[in-house]
Amino acid sequence: MQLSLSPEDQTFRTTAREWLAANVPRRRAPNDGRPARDFALAWLARCNAGGWSGISWPDEFGGRGLSQERLIVWYEEYVRARAPSVLDCTFVALNHAGPTLIACGSDEQKGFHLPRILAGESIWCQGFSEPGSGSDLASLATTGRVEGDHLVVNGQKIWTSFADIADYQELLIRTEAGSKRHHGLSWVICDMKSAGITVRPIENMAGAVHFAEVFYDNVRIPLSEVVGDLHDGWRVAMNTLAFERKTAAIGLQLELSVKVEDLIDLAAPPRGSAIAERLATLRAEAAALRAMTYRTLLREPETPSDGSLVRLCFAELAQRVNRTAMDILGADALLENAWTHDYLESYSETIAGGTAEIQRNIIAERVLGLPRVKTQ
Ligand SMILES: Cc1cc2nc3c(=O)[nH]c(=O)nc-3n(C[C@H](O)[C@H](O)[C@H](O)COP(=O)(O)OP(=O)(O)OC[C@H]3O[C@@H](n4cnc5c(N)ncnc54)[C@H](O)[C@@H]3O)c2cc1C
Repeated sequence: MQLSLSPEDQTFRTTAREWLAANVPRRRAPNDGRPARDFALAWLARCNAGGWSGISWPDEFGGRGLSQERLIVWYEEYVRARAPSVLDCTFVALNHAGPTLIACGSDEQKGFHLPRILAGESIWCQGFSEPGSGSDLASLATTGRVEGDHLVVNGQKIWTSFADIADYQELLIRTEAGSKRHHGLSWVICDMKSAGITVRPIENMAGAVHFAEVFYDNVRIPLSEVVGDLHDGWRVAMNTLAFERKTAAIGLQLELSVKVEDLIDLAAPPRGSAIAERLATLRAEAAALRAMTYRTLLREPETPSDGSLVRLCFAELAQRVNRTAMDILGADALLENAWTHDYLESYSETIAGGTAEIQRNIIAERVLGLPRVKTQ
């Protein structure tokens, strides 16, 4: 699929390309911990100084308010320049928390947090999943009891990406006693330095520490930190998840296209027709995914299942790309290198942000019109 770009869009492309060429850091981002935080914040601060932070946010909130076409152009140039991955520890702040505050937050919440996010001064994490409440998020059990002008929070979250280095958390909790499922929840801004929070990092099989368990023991959060109305958190959370599936996805898809080209370089000199055929298929699949992503972004009105189709195709293609790298490297894959690291990380692609099975359920119900899967 080709974009039809105006002469002004082409000028925009040149401006973006020149800025990126002059500013993209030369070294690879650290994998985790404090070094990852410092690197990501420094890069975001630099983008902000150049007017490239919050590119999809409306200008009245300090963003750049780019059209979908220009967002696509920006990300094409971004990955071409091999800028740091968009899926770093600033992802939640820029792609969930900021847009959610813009849509549902109070003036005070927006005034305090939005400039800090854009300037690369705060890291956010997402406290939604709990043990036993991942795919079935509405069953979550962490509670927030109203006591005067505070909530008193008790319970546990899990798989919270970047909890060990975050300043704030978008925290989804049950605030109405006795409520069930998606009723009686609230979306709350939680200061990660609050007394009573314990973060226990989890090491994944790639040896990286991206996520953590988070425990809340009588954590006091002012009611003024509730985003939207008290007990109306499900609506706010659905906003958050919708933002995640929108513009941020472009950067990830395009990063994958670049990775396929790197894989073709890795395979040179040619290693037989079987590998060549797989590489040709991967390149074609990456092009098809890119076309589907663009069509999804530019289609009005969007359909609710668009995000699931793109997300599922992306996750499974990313796994095939990384698996092919292992087959090309053969025994060398046993040595520690970036491809092996990415291969081990890629197992999480079909779990994070909604598992492949859940995406298939959504497609089955909303695209194919099959009967609804029953939950308890
Ligand atoms: C790298 C990574 C980062 C993450 N970061 C965050 C984060 O920052 N914040 C956060 O809140 N969460 C985060 N998560 C958690 C993620 O959202 C959950 O892992 C995901 O929603 C699945 O939930 P679960 O792990 O509880 O698995 P479960 O929901 O228990 O699922 C277990 C298995 O059962 C299948 N299954 C469940 N229900 C159905 C059904 N109805 N039909 C068919 N199959 C079903 C699933 O597909 C899966 O195979 C992260 C996860 C990963 C892997």
